[in-house]
Amino acid sequence: MERRHARYPFLGDARRAVQEAGVDLVEVVRAEDAVVERAAERVESAITERDVGESAHSDRVELLSYPVARVIVSIVDENVCTRYYAEAEASRAADRFREDFGREDGRAAITRTAVLREFDLGAAVTPRRDGGFAVGVAAYLRHASSLRGDEWRLANRALDRGDVPVSEPELDDLLREAVEERVREGLPLSVPDAIGDALDAEVAAIRETLADLDLTREIDTVVPDLFPPCMQHLLDAVQRGDHLAHHSRFALTAFLGNIGLSTDEIVELYEVNPGFGEEMTRYQTDHIKGESSPTEYTAPSCATMQAYGDCVNPDALCEHISHPLSYYEAKLDDADEEELEDWREERGTEGTAE
Ligand code: SF4
Repeated sequence: MERRHARYPFLGDARRAVQEAGVDLVEVVRAEDAVVERAAERVESAITERDVGESAHSDRVELLSYPVARVIVSIVDENVCTRYYAEAEASRAADRFREDFGREDGRAAITRTAVLREFDLGAAVTPRRDGGFAVGVAAYLRHASSLRGDEWRLANRALDRGDVPVSEPELDDLLREAVEERVREGLPLSVPDAIGDALDAEVAAIRETLADLDLTREIDTVVPDLFPPCMQHLLDAVQRGDHLAHHSRFALTAFLGNIGLSTDEIVELYEVNPGFGEEMTRYQTDHIKGESSPTEYTAPSCATMQAYGDCVNPDALCEHISHPLSYYEAKLDDADEEELEDWREERGTEGTAE
């Protein structure tokens, strides 16, 4: 196993190196604590720091921790965990590509040409005289379609004889996207019990971190159509003028606050219900949002919602999440950027879904 494999564990030849070494993953997760520890750190750090953490000194530990981390992500099986993990691996790879592509001392672990070949881009990408590159349209679309930002839309690109001209940093963005897709490929894996059982403690710790995570930090777009069924149900009940139990009202208010509604906007939503006095609603909302108290409360998890009978009409996505905010975040992720723009315009906000 070489240093290159440890630096770029998602490459095909890193996988082959693991196979050729006859590594038995069951044995590794049972007996190689350093590998399991580093694998758990990769995932934990990805969801808390958006980074896969410090590399292990041993190339073997670093390389083997990658497949074990993918196994952990598969068992956790939460959209937000898989996404943060793949993004963090891709981000680390992009940093390393930058180091290696620019090296002139002959010590680069990999060249850009080799990476392009790895992702079947060798024939599709050619250097241009201006220092940039020309990328075949099909290859461009394959990797640019999931990148955010209007500048990546084909309609905003001047085609050059059927190729898309891109700058060097843009090509590296496309490679980073290709790495992210590679890391996500096949997830969640189906994990044999013998491996899953040995990783029980690591999986439980990561689930706990996810439950504690401030999932609100990236959500600032309000699209009621994408609310989880429980919150849609509660919102409908408010608007119908129904009485809401204290726990239900807390859950809805915290959810609305977490996704970025101001106290005024929340009070306005409740106003249609004559059972809600404005002053009391404002007081409670400020308290829950942390504006008149030291804590900003997070909406309850699905387990708590279920315990209080507030989990209503769960759908297929509900089977893969453990928090109403994760549901909403997953829906925002899947929503078409144009649809989100329309919703933002309707609401008159400049919020972003990133
Ligand atoms: S499973 Fe969670 S998100 Fe889905 S309806 Fe129940 S509480 Fe809401």
